[in-house]
This record gives sequence, structure tokens and C-alpha cells, in this order.
Amino acid sequence: MIVLHPGDNRVLNAIQNEAAELSIPLEVRPDDHFYCEIEEFAEWARGRKRTVMEDFYRHMRRKHNVLMTSSGDPVGGEWNYDSENRESFGKGGPGKVKPPCSFQADDITQDAIRMVERRFADHPGTCEHFDLPVTHKQARALLRDFIKHRLPQFGKWQDAIWMDEPLLYHSRLSFALNLHLISPRDCVDAAVAAYDAGEAPINSVEGFVRQILGWREFVRGIYWKEMPSYIERNELWCGDVDVPSCFWDGKTDMRCVCDAMQSVLKHGYAHHIQRLMVLGLFSQLVGVHPRRFHDWHMAMYVDAIDWVSLPNTLGMSQYGDGGIVGTKPYCASGNYINKMSNCCSDCRFNPKEATGEDACPFTTLYWDFLDRHRDQFSKEPRMKLQMRNLDRKDDEEMQAIRLQASRVKDFVKTEMRD
Ligand SMILES: Cc1cc2nc3c(=O)[nH]c(=O)nc-3n(C[C@H](O)[C@H](O)[C@H](O)COP(=O)(O)OP(=O)(O)OC[C@H]3O[C@@H](n4cnc5c(N)ncnc54)[C@H](O)[C@@H]3O)c2cc1C
Ligand code: SF4
Repeated sequence: MIVLHPGDNRVLNAIQNEAAELSIPLEVRPDDHFYCEIEEFAEWARGRKRTVMEDFYRHMRRKHNVLMTSSGDPVGGEWNYDSENRESFGKGGPGKVKPPCSFQADDITQDAIRMVERRFADHPGTCEHFDLPVTHKQARALLRDFIKHRLPQFGKWQDAIWMDEPLLYHSRLSFALNLHLISPRDCVDAAVAAYDAGEAPINSVEGFVRQILGWREFVRGIYWKEMPSYIERNELWCGDVDVPSCFWDGKTDMRCVCDAMQSVLKHGYAHHIQRLMVLGLFSQLVGVHPRRFHDWHMAMYVDAIDWVSLPNTLGMSQYGDGGIVGTKPYCASGNYINKMSNCCSDCRFNPKEATGEDACPFTTLYWDFLDRHRDQFSKEPRMKLQMRNLDRKDDEEMQAIRLQASRVKDFVKTEMRD
């Protein structure tokens, strides 16, 4: 039996066990839909004290000669334009963002939609807005549309959020990439061609290339290197807390969560920063078990496959792996969301307040989170500033924060039981 390497360790084991039981010879062929083979990543990682994405990314840029000059330097002079990828929109907002091209469902897709609606009527979400590509040709059209209309602004506003704008300048290509409708090489080559033609700036093109040639390949390598034990990791010792009920129905007064959830429920999609700095952040601050956050993510997103969801949820977002994917926990208060979005101006909570009636749950839980992990985080040089700010809070303030945080967490847990 010859099979393509699956994207889920559980599936690989099931195939291997079945083949062994039936005494069928099995050949698992590499998936050429990635730049880096699993063994190649393991080889790169061997002997390294830490597997840092940036090191891997530079290795990939050199190896595949992407955005490199003939003298072996990165195009534009820098490897990474991350510092130019963090602008917010300001009061004026993103302006008129062109909606992505959408695709009319063909007969087969309509049949599938009807079947999902019939069989899973009581599940969260809806198929009403389904407009994704289902063929290679359509996926290429989506890529062209992104390159022309959104790539030029992608870099600058990669981290920004704006209410009722689920896509902004992102590509929405993850689903098509993960289902092999389009190859990562097509996406990288098209972005580099746009740079060469002077149609997109380097911070956008490098930012996009970094996501695909860097992060996407890196998390896959980590998944296969660390599995099967990776899924059990829980480095912040979270108890058996489940995701809040608003992660299933979107019903909450927290505007940032509500807005991100509308996108998840309508499109099975939220852009990266909503996943990381809104839904993932809330989950982390409340103390949801990382595996439960991953299970929820697998149930809700159209692009979720084990190899990519697990390192992103358990690793990057929840720091459940203790720093294998990310180099430090991505944690922030409501002030970060306020800076990067317009959600807070429309919210009943105040991102600046950690205690009292109007306190933003993110801000309360942020200080409580740092306080709970004080010993662990104090050893992390990149968290020095955050820990120093925590140390400035006096005992009385910390008591009030702890009390308010425990009320928020109790509320989340009671909601889950109801
Ligand atoms: C908590 C959390 C869970 C995630 N789960 C998934 C998942 O199940 N499936 C998935 O494909 N991505 C996942 N990501 C990564 C990323 O958020 C999505 O790939 C991205 O939001 C998809 O939207 P897009 O196609 O518009 O991406 P864009 O912002 O346009 O980025 C371009 C492409 O880069 C790739 N990419 C970017 N970041 C990552 C990353 N961290 N890991 C892997 N690929 C990346 C994707 O293929 C994406 O299509 C997750 C991130 C977080 C923080
Ligand atoms: S105030 Fe807090 S809960 Fe409300 S939108 Fe801002 S960050 Fe989210």
C-alpha cells in the first residue's frame, strides 16, 4: 500500500497499525506540498539548543533562493521587516477594503452544504456564507486577487484589527493551501514576482513569504518532531478548564471576542491576530487547558488540521510547550487590543481598568496571569519589562486584581457548566 504522508499523527498511526495487522507492506510517501521534508527539518533541528523560527526561516530563504541577492544577502538589506508589520489603522480605520473574490458553489458543493446543514443542524456556525475556492483554478484566482488588491498593504497592517472587517489585508489562502488546492511555491513565487515588478513593497512581500516559507513550514516540522508527546504538554500547569461558552455562540459583552467570533461562526475563519491576541489570549489568561483550546480550534476553523493547529494553539498561543514554537508567551492586557483595534470604543468595559465595575476582563486577567507565573516568567529575559511593571503594583492593588480575576474565572467556569 502506498499512501501520502497524512497531516495528523493519529491518522498515520492508524494506517501503520492497520497495515501491520493485515501484513500489508506500507510505503508512506513525502508530501511535496511543502518546501521542507519532515526528515530534513529533524536534521536541521538536530543538535540545536533551541529551534528558533527565524533561524529556520533564514535557512529556507538561502536554500530556496527566495528574496536573496546574487551575493547571498537578503533583498532590501534586512532578513525580517517584522517591525514594519505592526501598524494600527488609527481613528480613520482601514478605508474601503475591497472584498475578496468569492466563488459560487457548484452542484457538488451545494450537495455538500445541504448534507452539512441536514446532519449538523445543531452545530455552531452556518454554511450560508460559504464562498471559498474548491478547485485549483479558483484557488489561483483567489491568490491573484490577493496579490493585486491586498498584498501591497498586507505588511503594514498585518497585526491590525477592525470591527466587521473579518479579512482586512489577509489572503484567506490557508484553507486552500492546507487542502492542497494550491501549493506554497505558487504563493511565494507570486508574491516575489509582485515585488520584482514594483507592485508591492518589501515589508509586505517579506512578511507574506515569512508566514509561508517560515512559519508554516516551521510549525509542521515542530509537530512531527515533537509528536506524540507534544499534545500532552501543559507547561503552565493549566487545570481542566474548558473554553468559555461564548467561544461556541459568540454571545458576550466583550466586543473584541464577539467580533472575532462572528467571523469564526460565519466563515470558519479569523485572521491571525484575532486568533492569537483575542481568542487565544483570552483562553490563555483564563487558564483554559491548551489541549482543550486546540480541540475547540479544530472544531471551528476551515483551515484546521492537526499538524498546523496544534503547534499554533498549544504552542504559539497558549505557551503550553514552554517555548518550543514561540520564544516567550504572547500575553497582553486590553490596552494592546485597544491600540490595535477599534473594538474598545464600542465596548462596555474599559481596557485601562483592571478592577471595578468597568474593568476589562483582559486587563484584570493579564496582571493575574503574570502574578500567577511570576517565578517562571521572571527567568525569561524578554518578559523583564512586563514583570517590572507588575512589581510596581502594591499589595492592595494586587489583592483587588486577584479577587476580580477569580470572579471572572468563576464566571467562565459556571457558564461552561450551564
Ligand atoms: C491560535 C492559532 C491557531 C492557528 N491555527 C491554524 C490552523 O489550524 N491552520 C492554519 O492554516 N493556520 C493556523 N494558524 C496560523 C494563522 O493564523 C492562519 O494561517 C491564518 O490566520 C490564515 O489566514 P490567511 O490565509 O488569511 O493568512 P495570511 O495572514 O494571509 O497569511 C498567509 C499564509 O501564511 C500561512 N501562515 C501564517 N501564519 C502561520 C502560522 N503561524 N502557522 C502556519 N501557517 C501560517 C498560512 O498558510 C496563511 O494562509 C493559527 C494561528 C493561531 C494564533
Ligand atoms: S475593553 Fe477589553 S473586552 Fe472590551 S473590546 Fe477592549 S479589550 Fe476587549
